[in-house]
Amino acid sequence: MHAIVVRAHGDPSVMKLEQVPDPHPGPGQVLVRLHAAGVNPVDTYIRAGGYGRLPSLPYTPGIDGAGIIEAVGDGADMQRGFRALVPGDRVWVCALGGGTYAQRVLTRAHEVHALPEGVTFEQGSRIGVPYLTAWRAMMQIGQARPGHSVLIHGASGGVGSACVQIGVAGGRRVMGTAGTAEGLAFLRKLGCEETFNHREKGYEQQIVDATGGRGVDLIIEMLANVNLERDMGLVAPRGRIVVVGNRGQTTINARGLMGRDSSIHGMALFNASREELLECAAGVEGGLRAGWLRPVVQEVMPLEGAPRAHEWVMTDGKRGSVVLRVV
Ligand code: NAP
Repeated sequence: MHAIVVRAHGDPSVMKLEQVPDPHPGPGQVLVRLHAAGVNPVDTYIRAGGYGRLPSLPYTPGIDGAGIIEAVGDGADMQRGFRALVPGDRVWVCALGGGTYAQRVLTRAHEVHALPEGVTFEQGSRIGVPYLTAWRAMMQIGQARPGHSVLIHGASGGVGSACVQIGVAGGRRVMGTAGTAEGLAFLRKLGCEETFNHREKGYEQQIVDATGGRGVDLIIEMLANVNLERDMGLVAPRGRIVVVGNRGQTTINARGLMGRDSSIHGMALFNASREELLECAAGVEGGLRAGWLRPVVQEVMPLEGAPRAHEWVMTDGKRGSVVLRVV
């Protein structure tokens, strides 16, 4: 089969399309024939060699994908609710062990989920990391309740747009930030009640004003090294800040938390247990079936375009995310 292979960490050009042996599922594994692979920022951190968890070289990048189950290994638990997944089923995968920039991926059984009719493979390849992270950040860590006000600080990308959809459907008052006029229009279309430009001077005061001075109950933060200190001035008494994204160091004055009994929670999807991941996936699947969750694909590129996709994913001006088409 064809796969993108990385033989040494480095810039995007280290990703090469190669012919590699076809994989076969061992005990507890599932083999999925992929039609699309999703590209996440974490794929670029791993490729560059600057991430805490690195695969041994050579490796095939990619966590997210969508396609059709080709084979199921012995003992793989494919039961999902009342039905078991079987070869031939359309599925999305969140293969935390990597390998989706390829025609086939081997993954663990609990990382494979039914792709409802009406959701394309390209959309399906943008479910895994963005939607599981969004569900975990909003529901499991953030404990968003109906009626809560929620600020998605960086709402126009993969995780942010998923958070907006989850928040809006669950009866929260959702506010979001983006860095361009097109991004702000995108957020309004997704259902944000209020939108703010995170590149505009003084936008923090606009957020406080929009809450009548009280602040927001929950902040989902995509760029903590830039925003964490100011988030402490935007959160309501007893509110929570959930750090999803961070790309450097920052300094905060913890007094900002004491004065409001507010708290900061970190999260990484890699830390979630099998049970927590299945709970997130079940919530996401309900939304996909009912139609209130739909990943937004902004760009589609061919598999060999992986280097270009890695450059794209690290640029600003998001209105969704990027997918590699696998043929
Ligand atoms: P993405 O699709 O590239 O989106 C990035 C988002 O950050 C865009 O909405 C962008 O807005 C926004 N942004 C840019 N500058 C900002 C600023 N100054 N303040 C607030 N937001 C700003 O990435 P993603 O997949 O949504 O992931 C977002 C972050 O979370 C990344 O750092 C990623 O590595 C991390 N992440 C963490 C986990 C975890 O388990 N903790 C899981 C998934 C992702 P504009 O483009 O409109 O400026």
